[in-house]
Amino acid sequence: MNSRIVIKVGSLAITDETGGVSPSKVQALVTELQSLKALGVVPILVSSGAINSGRGFIQRPEEKKMMISFQQASAAVGQPLLMKAYIDALSASGAHCAQILVTHEDFKDRKRFLNIRNTINRLLANDVLPIVNENDTVSFAEITVGDNDQLAVMITEATDSEKLVLLTEADGLFNKNPKELDAQRFDEVDFKDDFSGVRFAAKTSVGRGGMDTKLKAVRKLTPLGVDVIIGTFLVESPITRLLERRGGTLFKGNPEKQTSRRKCWLSTIVKNDAWVVVDDGCVKALSDKNTSLLPIGIKKVHGLFRRGDVIQVKNKNKTVAIGISEFDYREMELIKGKKSLDISELIEHAPSKVAIHKDNLLLKTDFR
Ligand code: GLU
Repeated sequence: MNSRIVIKVGSLAITDETGGVSPSKVQALVTELQSLKALGVVPILVSSGAINSGRGFIQRPEEKKMMISFQQASAAVGQPLLMKAYIDALSASGAHCAQILVTHEDFKDRKRFLNIRNTINRLLANDVLPIVNENDTVSFAEITVGDNDQLAVMITEATDSEKLVLLTEADGLFNKNPKELDAQRFDEVDFKDDFSGVRFAAKTSVGRGGMDTKLKAVRKLTPLGVDVIIGTFLVESPITRLLERRGGTLFKGNPEKQTSRRKCWLSTIVKNDAWVVVDDGCVKALSDKNTSLLPIGIKKVHGLFRRGDVIQVKNKNKTVAIGISEFDYREMELIKGKKSLDISELIEHAPSKVAIHKDNLLLKTDFR
């Protein structure tokens, strides 16, 4: 049987360190993706590299606040150059690829989410390679996916893929910086493992992710029953090598697969950098009485989020639940610690009296 696998490549796997697409790296990747078909693998590619491919064409600003438009413009130049390299690489065999550009908003809106899924299904049925990236040109702080490790998580869930392969420089997870001589690689990690005792190596200067964002990706998918493999792209046929378990780290998915589509959707679109901190009484009410999250129990608001985003609920530095926020981060800041009855005085046309409705809340025990 054919098995769908999402493969995510970081910027340096397909572009040069100094900027610009590397046609030879893209060709090698495409040739390998095509050869995977013989192994019964149906690949879906999440490709970074737009910003790095285009940045040489846009003058780098001196001011920090101009960096966003620099990156947006670089991506606008780089994304078509990247696709051209993929198209050229596929053309020798007469194969085709498709470009899918998305932001976080497209996943939280159920209709758009289903459209992404239907489009990818149709492409695969026509033997076209889907290539997904964030739409960096239109995305900004409040709507960005953030990094492509997270994007790959959402694509894996949306497409019912059975595995996610994250290609990076390091050959998997090590107990310390892999450049240190006595660093040891973990070959296989159980889905319950909390990765304590692991020190992360610094991320590369190109691209947004690092080992930290990769492990966040692992934590979201493995509880649902999806395997994640992290390994290096710096070898011949890196994907085949990882699928044949000749290196990298395999993070085993929960043998009991999560079957609720809604739970899978909520727990993969949750924002990494958005949460509220709640008091102990609130945690007790959520877990014992199955209540909604009320503003009175909220002590702190962190990160940028919009109404309808899935955010984390934390207590003592631990995520105790996730859920769809009824308010944006500015409104949440205004109502935190307040009684539900006071909300209408603080926010005009307040959409709700609760911060997260119980129907839209998943306790940690529900998704792990
Ligand atoms: N979307 C960005 C790009 O294509 C990369 C994001 C990431 O590296 O995680 O350049």
